[in-house]
Amino acid sequence: MNDLLKTAQEAVRQASEICSRIQSRLVDEDTLTKKDRSPVTIADYASQAVICKVLHDTFPEIPIVGEEDAQSLREEENRNVLEKVAEFLPGWSHSDILDAIDLGNGEAQGRYWTLDPIDGTKGFLRGDQYAVALALIESGEIQLGVLGCPNLSFDENQKDGTLAYAVKGGGSYATAIHGDSIRENRVAAGSPDEAVRFLESVESGHANHGLQGQIMSYFGEQAQSVRYDSQVKYAVLAAGKADVYLRLPNPKYPDYREKIWDHAAGVIVIREAGGRATDMYGKELDFTQGKKLLNNRGVIVTNGTVHETIIQLLKDLS
Ligand code: AMP
Ligand code: MG
Repeated sequence: MNDLLKTAQEAVRQASEICSRIQSRLVDEDTLTKKDRSPVTIADYASQAVICKVLHDTFPEIPIVGEEDAQSLREEENRNVLEKVAEFLPGWSHSDILDAIDLGNGEAQGRYWTLDPIDGTKGFLRGDQYAVALALIESGEIQLGVLGCPNLSFDENQKDGTLAYAVKGGGSYATAIHGDSIRENRVAAGSPDEAVRFLESVESGHANHGLQGQIMSYFGEQAQSVRYDSQVKYAVLAAGKADVYLRLPNPKYPDYREKIWDHAAGVIVIREAGGRATDMYGKELDFTQGKKLLNNRGVIVTNGTVHETIIQLLKDLS
């Protein structure tokens, strides 16, 4: 497992670095006003290419289930996008890039990696939080997870973001993306007389902020709320800096099912830090159903202490 973790960390480090460079160079006022998604498209492809190459070079037998594929990038009309991706991958030919991205077309069965090359694309475009998320799943059990969070720092001296990671049964840790000082992730104790710090998505389409507000109001003055994009929320909660992450389904999209790459890495980082992640009914998240969590609705993540209270509140409110 150590070799798998080292390789996963190396892959996520390299991708995080490229994403940071793309975000700082390409996401500017102009992009935001034109609503041009090309920076995130370029970063998504570059990130998936780098990660798939690093993983495949060391573990060619393990399939990769990535969010992206190179189908549209192979079309002539997208040649300019491919050229941009290549600018950030010196030494790679166009076919190296396309083939590496397509290594992410693996099947979600048996033992496989699952990858979100940029989770929180809206945050990336706003210049806010996003994550590079990689996990290894075997027979539906998450074995390890690595979250690259290039814009997340708990310490103002730490300039290059946070790499949070965990191996099943081995604890949960965080380090600077290029640092070597490691700290253990531990969820907050959640004392009844302290503030209850909630995390939610920034994007209103990705959750039910109304119902989430009702849950929070139960805690009255004790409730505080912060909104972040992406699985950065899991890294913040694992570090003990928040207590509850609410992701209740948006009633506008009743058929939406959560994707495995949006949660697998975060879930093991939380579990190994002593926290809990279930769906909104308190049901364990079921990673045996392919690319989606078909048997679950919504996701509730907590420090553990407050979990049952939240699930009960949801029952009472429904
Ligand atoms: P977040 O940054 O936490 O809001 O989550 C970003 C992720 O939300 C993206 O990677 C999408 O896969 C996912 N997403 C897209 N639509 C929905 C939806 N209707 N409900 C929940 N998640 C969604
Ligand atoms: Mg995502």
